[in-house]
Amino acid sequence: MTPQEVLTLCREKDVKAVDFRFMDFPGLWQHFTIPVGKLEESVFEEGLGFDGSSIRGWQSINESDMLLVPEPDTAFIDPFTDLPTVCMICNVQDPITREDYTRDPRNVARKAANYLKSTGVADTCYIGPEAEFFVFDDVRFDHRPNEAFYFLDSGEAEWNRGADEGPNLGHKLRHKEGYFPCPPADQLMNLRNEMMQSMIDCGLDVECQHHEVATAGQSEIDLKYGELVRMADNLCLYKYIVKNVAHRGGRTVTFMPKPLYNDNGSGMHTHISFWKGGEPLFAGGGYAGLSDDALFALGGILKHAPALLAFTNPTTNSYKRLVPGFEAPVNLAYSQRNRSAACRIPMYSPSPKAKRIEFRCPDPSANPYLAFSALMMAALDGVQNKIHPGEPLDKDIYDLTPEELSDVPKTPASLAEALDALTDDHEFLLRGDVFTQDVISTWIDYKRQNEIRQIDLRPHPYEFCMY
Ligand code: GLU
Ligand code: MG
Ligand code: MG
Repeated sequence: MTPQEVLTLCREKDVKAVDFRFMDFPGLWQHFTIPVGKLEESVFEEGLGFDGSSIRGWQSINESDMLLVPEPDTAFIDPFTDLPTVCMICNVQDPITREDYTRDPRNVARKAANYLKSTGVADTCYIGPEAEFFVFDDVRFDHRPNEAFYFLDSGEAEWNRGADEGPNLGHKLRHKEGYFPCPPADQLMNLRNEMMQSMIDCGLDVECQHHEVATAGQSEIDLKYGELVRMADNLCLYKYIVKNVAHRGGRTVTFMPKPLYNDNGSGMHTHISFWKGGEPLFAGGGYAGLSDDALFALGGILKHAPALLAFTNPTTNSYKRLVPGFEAPVNLAYSQRNRSAACRIPMYSPSPKAKRIEFRCPDPSANPYLAFSALMMAALDGVQNKIHPGEPLDKDIYDLTPEELSDVPKTPASLAEALDALTDDHEFLLRGDVFTQDVISTWIDYKRQNEIRQIDLRPHPYEFCMY
C-alpha cells in the first residue's frame, strides 16, 4: 500500500482514528493514536514525535525526542476498537539527523535483510515461526496464582479437576494429551477459530490452528512463512489478535515459555530458508535433501546457538522450558526425523521449495525482530565460513545414555549463561552494522539488571514449600 492508498482506505472504511505501532526493545508492542483528520501525506515523510526516554531500554532523558515514521504497507483495520481505526507499524528515527534509530528492533531486522542481499549469498531469508501459547480462565489465574509452583508429581489431576468449574462433566484432556482430541475435550476450538478469522481479516495468511500437547489450554496457530521483516511484523499482529480475542472472551493468554510446572512449555519453533532469484538455496543432494549451503547454515546455527539463545530465548523463564522430557530441545544437534534435536529438517514435502531448517529452541517470549535477525546472521555466518555441522543425531536423543550424549553440546542452563555466551560470541552479529556494539551491550545490561537480578532478589514461592 502507498500513502495515497492508506488515505483512500480511511475514506472508504469511514476510519476515524489512526494508530501508530512500534516494538520496544524487550519486545512489547507500543502505540499511540491520532484522529484521522491529522493523517496527511506529509506524516509518511516527516513522521510524528514521541518521548523515546519512556520506552524500556531506549534513549536517555536528555535526548528523548524521537520520530515515528509509518510504513504504509503495514496498514490494517484494527478489529478490536469501537471507533473504526487504521493501524500502521512504524520505523523509529532521530528527529535531527533523520537516521534510523539503532535500538529500534525493526531497524535491526531491516538491516539484517539488506545485509543478506549485499553479501550476494541470497536475496531473501524466509522465516516461519510456530508460536505456542496458553489460554487461562481469569478465575483460575487470579485466585490460584501459586498453584503452578506447588502442585507436585501427582498434582496434574488436582489442577485438571478445575475446582472453580462446578459439576465435573468429564470430557477432560489428560496430562500431556492435549495434542489433539476433538471437542468437547478441546474446549478452545471456538476461541481459536475466532482468532484465526480475525487474523485472516487483518491480512495474515493462516495455515492451521490446533490445541497443543499441554493439558491446560495450550494452543498454536500457524502462519504461512514470509520474508524476515514482514514475518516479524506479522508476529506482532498475531500476538495482538491472540491476546485481544482471549480478552474479549473473558480469558487471558500468556506467551511465557513455561507457565506450568510439569507440563509442556510453549516454544516458537522457527523455520528458516535462504532464496536467490526466486530459487530455494537449501535443497540439494546432501543429508535429508539439503544443499551444502543449508548444511553450513546448520553449522552456523549450532555453533552460535548458546549466544543466539540470548535473543531467541531471552527470559529467565525460557530456561525452565529447555529441560528434558517436554519436547523442548536440550541438545545442540540436528536430525531429519528427531523432534528432540535443536535443529530438525522437516520431511513433510519432497518439494525443493519446502526445504528448510527448523530451529526448535526459540520461544514466544522473544522479540521477533531481534530473534529472527540473530538466527539469520548465524546461518549466514555458517554459509560464508563453510561451518560444518558435524554428524546428524538420528536416534531419539532422550533415550541415549549419558555416555552416548557426552559429546553433544547442551543448550545454556539459564539466561545468565546465554548472556555470557553472547558476551563472548557476537562478532557474527556485528557484520554489516546489523547489531551494533551498543545494541549488544544494552541488551546484556538490560537483561542482567532488569530481569536476572530482579528474580535473584526475590524469594521464590517454591522456597516456602521446600524450607
Ligand atoms: N511445546 C513444545 C516445545 O516447547 C513443542 C511441541 C511441538 O510443537 O511439537 O517446543
Ligand atoms: Mg507446536
Ligand atoms: Mg515444529
